Amino acid sequence: MSNIRLKALEIALTRRKKEVLSPNGKISDYFGSQTFNHYVMQQFLPQEVYRKVLNSIETGIKIDRYVADQVAASLKAWAMSKGATHFTHWFHPLTGSTAEKHDTFTDPVEGGLALETFKGSDLVQQEPDASSFPSGGIRNTFEARGYTAWDPTSAVFILDNTLCIPTVFVSYTGEALDYKTPLIRTMHALDRAATEVCRYFDKNTKKVIVTLGWEQEYFLVDSALFRARPDLALTGRTLFGHSSAKDQQLSDHYFGTIPERVLDFMRNFEQEAYKLGIPVKTRHNEVAPGQFECAPVYEEVNQAVDHNQLLMHLMERVARWHDFNVLFHEKPYAGINGSGKHNNWSLMTDKGENLLSPGKTAKSNFRFIVFLVNVIKAVDNHPELLNAYIASAGNDLRLGGHEAPPAIISVFIGSQLTQMLDDIENLKKNGKINNGKEFNINLNLPKIPEILLDNTDRNRTSPFAFTGNKFEFRAVGASSNCARAMIPLNLLVTDQLCQFKKDVDILTTNGLSKDNALMSVIKQYIAESKRIRFEGNNYSDEWKQEAVKRGLKNMQNTPAALEAFIKPDIIELYARNKILSERELIARYEIKLEHYTKKVQIESRVLGDLASNHIIPTAIRYQNTLIENVKGLKEVLDSENFGKLSHIQIQTIIEISSHINGIKTNVALMLEERKKANRINNSQEKATTYAQNVLPFFGIIRQHVDKLELLVDDELWPLPKYRELLFIR
Ligand code: ADP
Ligand code: MG
Repeated sequence: MSNIRLKALEIALTRRKKEVLSPNGKISDYFGSQTFNHYVMQQFLPQEVYRKVLNSIETGIKIDRYVADQVAASLKAWAMSKGATHFTHWFHPLTGSTAEKHDTFTDPVEGGLALETFKGSDLVQQEPDASSFPSGGIRNTFEARGYTAWDPTSAVFILDNTLCIPTVFVSYTGEALDYKTPLIRTMHALDRAATEVCRYFDKNTKKVIVTLGWEQEYFLVDSALFRARPDLALTGRTLFGHSSAKDQQLSDHYFGTIPERVLDFMRNFEQEAYKLGIPVKTRHNEVAPGQFECAPVYEEVNQAVDHNQLLMHLMERVARWHDFNVLFHEKPYAGINGSGKHNNWSLMTDKGENLLSPGKTAKSNFRFIVFLVNVIKAVDNHPELLNAYIASAGNDLRLGGHEAPPAIISVFIGSQLTQMLDDIENLKKNGKINNGKEFNINLNLPKIPEILLDNTDRNRTSPFAFTGNKFEFRAVGASSNCARAMIPLNLLVTDQLCQFKKDVDILTTNGLSKDNALMSVIKQYIAESKRIRFEGNNYSDEWKQEAVKRGLKNMQNTPAALEAFIKPDIIELYARNKILSERELIARYEIKLEHYTKKVQIESRVLGDLASNHIIPTAIRYQNTLIENVKGLKEVLDSENFGKLSHIQIQTIIEISSHINGIKTNVALMLEERKKANRINNSQEKATTYAQNVLPFFGIIRQHVDKLELLVDDELWPLPKYRELLFIR
């Protein structure tokens, strides 16, 4: 009988280093060579057209037909000079990955010949028959068509001889069917709101952009072993597996020497990334064996989101060149760290000033405090919205684990800033503000040490931490589209900044000086948003209890977290900032519920199949050899010795039987629960039932299987074990 695991191991253990063709020379020589970046645009576009495109990128104004035709002609020339034969609109449907449909540039012409064409209309809009993308009921099949529209704020690029045009994806009735549309809407809304607030400090501020620098964690596993684990291949995570005697206990993997095979993979995907202008900067080993991280230099949020999606795609592909599979699942292995995607977020003015960086002058410090406090207040207004966006079947398994922030949103700012906010809150007691006396920023503002950036305390347990000049949203899952975390954060901050302006303007209309008004509103916000600030250990049980007292929710699972989408005040929040309509929100809510249900359903099926078809037969086979052994002993031993010496074997036979029973019974019960859940029509109820009645069987069944893994002869065991999957050689 062939054993897939042993064959896979043989392959994995005899891997040789692979030479993969890669570009020579300096990175700067080929960085961005496959993108239609500003430098290339200047070369290929007429001056006038280039200026119009720039203007459109900056202001969001629509590009007219004439300009579109000109850009299309240049794009075609550039793309063909690079050997491109096809073009596609590249978008982010709500499936979580990216979508594309390639068309060739060539059109047949008279005389049996063909000609390359690419018109402005091809660039600006496409109509993919997109009826199979999730739409949450927005598009019925009879009005199935959606359309994609060019998003000039993200660079066009060439991948696999195909010109890829970043686009948004909307229904014919104009409703957003993707992540990009609401993301771009929040970027513009936040620009307007933040610019207004900046003008309290600098009248000449023209624009504020959102910056995002993501850190992507991932696992690598040898592809032979990956293929021998149907659970990994079908669900992205292991549903069984006894922990390895050694995994991350010794903390010897984090920042350790990167294995050579892995380094080759990293070099290769980075090279592919550089060609596409993705500014990957950092690479290192992560905490768990087999786990790694990469991070780029931050960029404007829209571009950063695209680059993250693109890089994940490149990594998956390049991994195969090196006989690896890359896992972006949030929790591929039980018992060791899972993978997150830290979203570092900040705001930057058109002058390049970071609004979350403490300044050198009293005035810029004051501005910093205003933005810092407004972000804290924004999160405090609706922490449940952030929860709703980061929740997924995979992230549920990671959050609350001992290495990841819990599913309770709180904000960490460090002891120095805490002290500073306390000082501001107490200003009144010193009689320096609101007592008829004017506020003087030079005298009254607590000093912020300039070295803040380098010595902010690093609370690794916080889901949302200030890290010197940006907020780091750590609760985001590794597989998530970054836009999912950025949309609600941008929205909450936008809404809060609008409110701030209103609150300040009321006071100034009533005669308070501007500085005094600003400070008095900030003081009020600091006091009001205290509950969201937490500086302690977020992993501790005390915090879970404390959070309840503060009215902060610990979201146990995705269906519970998703409810925020349809809360009246959240619908109102989206509407007043013109980001998504009620119909769009309900559609998103439905899609996410359905997605969750399907994920758990698939896992449950895979788990049942593997337990019944792989594990039980293996256990029985081993049990039979034990039975044979006992029979043999009985033949050769007298009854006194037999009684003494067959004891262990018989005990093991019984133990195996009890685990087989446990598996059989629970797989059957799980199936029953699944059937019941499948009969439910209401999607919220269905998802909740899956979470509450189906999911709990996973752990029960797994326990029996993992016990069997220790009992059964290693040579018979069909699935690669954790100790084989985790350590890359
Ligand atoms: P760490 O968090 O591990 O200390 P860094 O501070 O170097 O690492 O930065 C992590 C990520 O934060 C990087 O992607 C970096 O580009 C990003 N980052 C730094 N400054 C900003 C900013 N102003 N806005 C957004 N992201 C930023
Ligand atoms: Mg970081």
